[in-house]
Amino acid sequence: MSKTTDELFKNVIAHAKEYGFVFQSSEIYDGLSAVYDYGQFGAELKNNIKTYWWKAMVQMNQNIVGIDSAIFMHPKIWEASGHVGGFSDPMIDNKVTKKRYRADQLIEDKIEDLLNIAFKEVSLAVNKKYPDLQNNLEALIDINAVRDYIKNPPVGKAINLDFAADAAKDTYKAIQEHPSAKKSFSLFKEFTDALLAEDLDELKSLIAKYEINDPNSKEKPDWTEVRQFNLMFSTQMGAIADDADKVYLRPETAQGIFVNYLNVQKSGRMKIPFGIAQIGKAFRNEVIARQFIIRMREFEQMEMQFFVRPGTEMEWYNHWKQARLKWHLALGTDEAKYRYHDHTKLAHYANAAVDIEYDFPFGFKEVEGIHSRTDFDLSQHQQFSGKKMQYFDPELGEDGKPYGNYIPYVIETSIGLDRMFLLTMINAYEEEDLSTEDKQDSRTVLHLHPCLAPVKAAIFPLTKKDGLPEKAREIMEALQIDFNLQYEEKDAIGKRYRRQDAIGTPFCITVDHQTLEDNTVTLRHRDSMEQERVPADQLDKIIGDLVSW
Ligand code: ATP
Repeated sequence: MSKTTDELFKNVIAHAKEYGFVFQSSEIYDGLSAVYDYGQFGAELKNNIKTYWWKAMVQMNQNIVGIDSAIFMHPKIWEASGHVGGFSDPMIDNKVTKKRYRADQLIEDKIEDLLNIAFKEVSLAVNKKYPDLQNNLEALIDINAVRDYIKNPPVGKAINLDFAADAAKDTYKAIQEHPSAKKSFSLFKEFTDALLAEDLDELKSLIAKYEINDPNSKEKPDWTEVRQFNLMFSTQMGAIADDADKVYLRPETAQGIFVNYLNVQKSGRMKIPFGIAQIGKAFRNEVIARQFIIRMREFEQMEMQFFVRPGTEMEWYNHWKQARLKWHLALGTDEAKYRYHDHTKLAHYANAAVDIEYDFPFGFKEVEGIHSRTDFDLSQHQQFSGKKMQYFDPELGEDGKPYGNYIPYVIETSIGLDRMFLLTMINAYEEEDLSTEDKQDSRTVLHLHPCLAPVKAAIFPLTKKDGLPEKAREIMEALQIDFNLQYEEKDAIGKRYRRQDAIGTPFCITVDHQTLEDNTVTLRHRDSMEQERVPADQLDKIIGDLVSW
């Protein structure tokens, strides 16, 4: 990670806290690891993202309905879904420090560290060869692109990196030959082999062979065996604490949809293809908490399961793959920031899977998954519950007979609300230099899509006297049923503008003496900072036009 992106990420986190978007949970007790609270503006932004998703899914599609299922479910559900047996990560403990780590994460970090060493040394050498580039090589060559390219070289194709400059080609070649990079590649290969073979002993021996240290201690580590550690939280239901009463906090919202699919289908007279959407909390006892709200122990998912006739699933998979990226891009985000990552290694129940990834300051990261899950989940529930999960399809097939009874196939779209929140913050955040020849000036602004902005407009009386506050409040009262507004009368106007820029408010409305005469106000636009004079009674329409969906 280059220094600038690292700093940018730190600044966004600091900004999120300073302006009431995200706080560490239980902060006054020194926090609770990987758990976060959303503050006053964070809660608004999060709600607006949910609304945007819900509208796109449920309101815009006549054949998709939304539900809200309980977090607690019958424990057998998690046996049927495979979570009791298989939802685990390989863990290793350092016996000296008593710290626990994900074995795969330790190895991945080592792969990255080795590659970074090679990259640093090589860029120094290439910088010397191409002095006119000075120290800009890092800007020219994205380390993440190099890393991805090396991990997934396009088979049979010549080197086709975006950065086709000679310097980049030289760098790429030199990295490949660098001893540290070579070590990184061989560790990567051995590691993926071990993962594919699910060989925990091999993971342990790689950690020893490549002398991987405890990231939090300089002492030589004494590693335990690698063990599988289940990620589900469990608790007891009722008064008696024996195993029969054990329930889990759901690790995904999808199962609440699967077990209700016939209830919804029958009560809503839904015909295939149809979808069920849900937004809700999920819980995973993630061992490595990293990168702020990217990996949390309590988080929120927005999931939609789309039930289709077997044999049509690829058509629908492709449909949702495109539709979901469109949803992201409709917010105005630069397309180059997104990419698809097609899974080559599929879970046993899936016949196609893709992630939508976003280019975070720390590299591309999954935000959403689209999975073709076949009839795996519904068949499992049929087997474990003993209840029929079939759908009767009255439509006539090519042979003139109804399709009849079958267990539908499922295409799932699953997006992490918190990751989407972080993406939105990072994408919107800008430290803008406004300096002129005679004055240094800057502002931090969130260029949030107006529909997502926590506050739609702020209303300022120019001064605290002459009836201006009363007039400003009167204008506010006429608008606040439709829009989330803020009233501020403290500080100079410039300062008040800056505070609203920092939370992404698209409009500031200033009430001055002229307002008392002709009922016009100054309307200031967040992004352009331009101001115009408009009649107060048109504000409803002006704001509405910009912030309505
Ligand atoms: P990862 O590989 O990053 O752990 P995953 O493949 O386990 O994610 P899924 O089970 O497909 O994730 O969950 C769907 C979405 O839920 C992810 O795309 C992500 O946005 C979100 N998500 C999953 N785990 C977490 C978490 N611990 N904290 C926040 N969001 C999460």
